[in-house]
Amino acid sequence: MACTLPKGFETYFNEWEDRIGAFIEFSPDKDVPVPVGPEEAPVQIPSGLAGLPFAVKDNISVEGLRVSCGSKLLAKVKAPYTATAVGKLLAAGCTVMGKTNLDEFGMGSSTDNSGIKRTNNPWDTSRVPGGSSGGSAAAVSAGLAPFALGSDTGGSVRQPAAFCGVVGLKPTYGAVSRYGLVAYASSLEGIGVLADSVSRCRQVFSVIRGRDPRDQTSRDAPEGAPALAASAGASGGRIGVLSPEAVARAAAAAAGTDGEAGGAALKAAAEAAELEPEVRRGFEKAKEGLRELGYTLEEVDIPSLKYGVPAYYTIATAEASANLARFDSVRYGQRPGWAENPDDLIDKAREAGFGPEVKLRILLGTFVLRSGFQDRYYLRAQRIRAGIKRILVTLLVGEGVGRGGGVDALLLPVFPARAFGRGASSLSPFAQKAADLYTCCANLAGLPALSFPASLEGGLPVGVQLIGRAFAEGVLLDIAAAYEAAHPFPHPAGYKAFWN
Ligand code: GLN
Repeated sequence: MACTLPKGFETYFNEWEDRIGAFIEFSPDKDVPVPVGPEEAPVQIPSGLAGLPFAVKDNISVEGLRVSCGSKLLAKVKAPYTATAVGKLLAAGCTVMGKTNLDEFGMGSSTDNSGIKRTNNPWDTSRVPGGSSGGSAAAVSAGLAPFALGSDTGGSVRQPAAFCGVVGLKPTYGAVSRYGLVAYASSLEGIGVLADSVSRCRQVFSVIRGRDPRDQTSRDAPEGAPALAASAGASGGRIGVLSPEAVARAAAAAAGTDGEAGGAALKAAAEAAELEPEVRRGFEKAKEGLRELGYTLEEVDIPSLKYGVPAYYTIATAEASANLARFDSVRYGQRPGWAENPDDLIDKAREAGFGPEVKLRILLGTFVLRSGFQDRYYLRAQRIRAGIKRILVTLLVGEGVGRGGGVDALLLPVFPARAFGRGASSLSPFAQKAADLYTCCANLAGLPALSFPASLEGGLPVGVQLIGRAFAEGVLLDIAAAYEAAHPFPHPAGYKAFWN
């Protein structure tokens, strides 16, 4: 079905879109067919979603629409089929309004790594929207879409959600089918939801989740998993909060100033990983707000947090180097005007089509996978990954925490800074990576994580993040919903509510 857009929306959309550039393709008139699955399970349709249009990050396939992945190499490619998550929303009566901008293949934290265009933050158009799902976050924040799909490999749903003041859910690994998502780092990533409210986020997730025969890593929530339906008056649970000392220690380690590493290049990372005063304030307000709602907050430490970023970038680049090998421009993709032979064609196409960040990561990935060196990098990263998972699960499930029994969720910052600017006020690519320390752990552990707006500081949103037990998305959504009821989420100047 094509989209039915509200009256007056077109002018509103054009005015905003001119300023923020959230979309790579806006095609509300396009009739996207509802795909037929291999064993179509009936989709439960939550009231309130039917008839709503939504935006889709441009690394998720929608039949007949572009799937550029933010890459020049794929700028003209159209998807021949529709991702399962999108298909389920179509079956539930939603319609696709278009495809949103992203960092090339999801690699980045600003959306400025897009080879297609630039996207600005609706709160301050001189700043980035975050990334890599920056187009999706900006569109929802400006009210151009009630919700959007994104992908989160190391924070790409949660961080732009925090930068733009919207809700961002990274589901449990495998809770949502990855069929139709262009792979960056398959073992870490999944399709997530960006939405204008917690209840909308919950509704969307309830539609897109579940096992899909086309993705062998997907599964239904196991028996005994907490209910996804909103539980009334859910408060009074226990939340483990990363202590200020633990935050400071992790930042120092990320920068190599804790004596374990050194070097001038790491100095910028020191600043990047340390919480900006405004972010610290937002984090404190979130703690206060949750306490007032009746939650018991217990300080926790995650000692191996400092190893998260190195492990994440080792695994992510290793997988990326393999996943991106398929883009050879032989069957699809931009090609050079002339080539000597097939090898030359591939070389030229990749040289011209990939941006610098993508090339850097392919090189890094092949480096860590070199024969004879796997022990030193890749396998070591996998051991760190297992260790981080063990710590998080121990905190959440029990053993050795306060009164025992485990906390219901962990509260962490999302990113050490609010939306950053460009040019001199930007963060270096290295600093941006160091700053992924709070988000990448949930991906390494495969656990669900939810980012929601905690407060406005200096005119910019600050988000906080909840990490939960596997398949306990409902618990995280309950906590965020309670917070939202007491602290309604703010909107950027010029925002108009078109969606109820
Ligand atoms: N900033 C991280 C990266 O560049 C996260 C990206 C993502 O989640 N897709 O890899």
